[in-house]
Amino acid sequence: MLLRLQRNVPQSALDSIFLLCKELGYRARHPGGRADLLELFGPGSPGDRSRFEDLSGVAQVLDPGEARELHELAARGAPSQVRVGDAAFGAGAVSLVAGPCAIEDEERLVEIARGVRAAGATLLRGGAFKPRTSPYSFRGSGQRGLESLARVKAETGLAVVTEVLDPRDVEAVGAVADMFQIGARSMSNFALLSEVGRTRTPVLLKRGFGARVRELLLAAEYVLAEGNDALVLCERGVRGFDSVTRNLLDVGAVAYLKRVSHLPVIVDPSHAAGRADLVRPLARAGIAAGADGLMIEVHPAPAEVHSDGQQAVSLEAFAEIARDVRRLVEIDGRRLVQPELQPDVSA
Ligand code: PEP
Ligand code: MN
Repeated sequence: MLLRLQRNVPQSALDSIFLLCKELGYRARHPGGRADLLELFGPGSPGDRSRFEDLSGVAQVLDPGEARELHELAARGAPSQVRVGDAAFGAGAVSLVAGPCAIEDEERLVEIARGVRAAGATLLRGGAFKPRTSPYSFRGSGQRGLESLARVKAETGLAVVTEVLDPRDVEAVGAVADMFQIGARSMSNFALLSEVGRTRTPVLLKRGFGARVRELLLAAEYVLAEGNDALVLCERGVRGFDSVTRNLLDVGAVAYLKRVSHLPVIVDPSHAAGRADLVRPLARAGIAAGADGLMIEVHPAPAEVHSDGQQAVSLEAFAEIARDVRRLVEIDGRRLVQPELQPDVSA
């Protein structure tokens, strides 16, 4: 591991750095006599890197070396694949997740589930517990929504991803969800991350709108450290200075994450765009940057919904996006996972 030190580090800070080296079993030396660098040799374990990053006097850990973190591609050697129902993300597999922002009307949900599957989605999305910026906004239908989701899942055979907001709800949500969604506002809820990490249900972790990529990766580490490695990251746009889109889709982060981490990464163009007419171009950009899938909000009657109606695309528009994805992934030899042909038991 290579530490870049701050300028004029006081002796007391250096002493603490050397003390930690000793405690973690590292030998240290200044390479080429450079006082601003400190090279560490030792067995190393995944948590070491953050321990050094936290120390005063350390500007940056440049080369994590042996102290690989669990998300790192170099630690694992190959990209991982996460499977949820018929969907598979990563290692050449691309899947589409689609559905309403929130679970509202059950009949509509069945209609959307059937429509998105016919168009190519393998995972249904829909929130029963909605994180809202204002406590006075519609906060989801809660337990009733979960029950609707369970019925729609049984009726259509589509696996479902739904958000869990509170560690106390992990069990109840986990009884229905095939994948937990950790929303942007919960990315730093470490108790929640650890709790879903203790389950063996796949997790979709969305990047906070003010979070650095490094912070997203460390949030991922909370889940992985508990032994749940069925983890998919999601870039959904960060807060920019312009308001023409709701958020700024960080395609650079997607490309970077695919380079440094073995974890699958998907893009949510809906929350990035904030408007239906820009979802398709952002979806294409996400796939072109290397995303292993997309999560898209779809609703046939957006005027009826209580959350995010302005960014919901129609079933027809979703089908066009799926066609785009099929063609785009061919360029780099990947494949769009197709829904099972006849899994709909009641159709
Ligand atoms: C959502 O997926 O509906 C949602 C609330 O997204 P985010 O957490 O990214 O804002
Ligand atoms: Mn939404």
